[in-house]
Amino acid sequence: MKALIIPVTPFQQNCSVIWDERSKRAAVVDPGGDLDRVLAEVDREGLQLEKILLTHGHLDHAAATAELAKLRHLKIEGPHRDDQFWIDQLPEATQRFGFPPAAAFTPDRWLEQGDQVSVGDQILEVRHCPGHTPGHVIFFHPQQKFAWVGDVIFAGSIGRSDFPRGDHQTLVKSIRENLFPLGDDVRFVPGHGPLSTFGQERQTNPFVADHRFG
Ligand SMILES: [Zn+2]
Ligand SMILES: [Zn+2]
Repeated sequence: MKALIIPVTPFQQNCSVIWDERSKRAAVVDPGGDLDRVLAEVDREGLQLEKILLTHGHLDHAAATAELAKLRHLKIEGPHRDDQFWIDQLPEATQRFGFPPAAAFTPDRWLEQGDQVSVGDQILEVRHCPGHTPGHVIFFHPQQKFAWVGDVIFAGSIGRSDFPRGDHQTLVKSIRENLFPLGDDVRFVPGHGPLSTFGQERQTNPFVADHRFG
């Protein structure tokens, strides 16, 4: 599996194009905006897009989903259904933050803990990690020990939990009990900023490092 990270929107959200090298079948993870740049990369690599994967319903991650799905006839998979209320707010949220207009949508498939999603012949595992938003999911590729974690955890920080239905304790629990067991050597692409590994964050992250939990 290959991946290309394209920071999009004024929030510099790490949109990823991921693909199966053999079949060239691809997915866009979290198309928040700047579709012209994202699609230029897709076409330059000669990829055949088959779906959109969403970690959660915030505008910087999901605002261009409906447009992209329509443009390229793509299925939308994720997030967990508890984020529908965020997706429903996209039209007004994009207006408020000066994003291009966005339509709300209903994903073709809601995701839950333990589900699998495919990209070509590659399989990603789904973990439900609430706390930043209630329906946040992450995608994990076991063979390459690589994860796309949206706004659950960042290099040196964790997601905000001061949104409606956000909860700090729930977020910390999601990270410590549902992400860290995937392995210290797992590299992750966060929703914003540089990549890191779970092992690095277990040592140094001021919110969720091991030493804070005895
Ligand atoms: Zn978010
Ligand atoms: Zn974000």
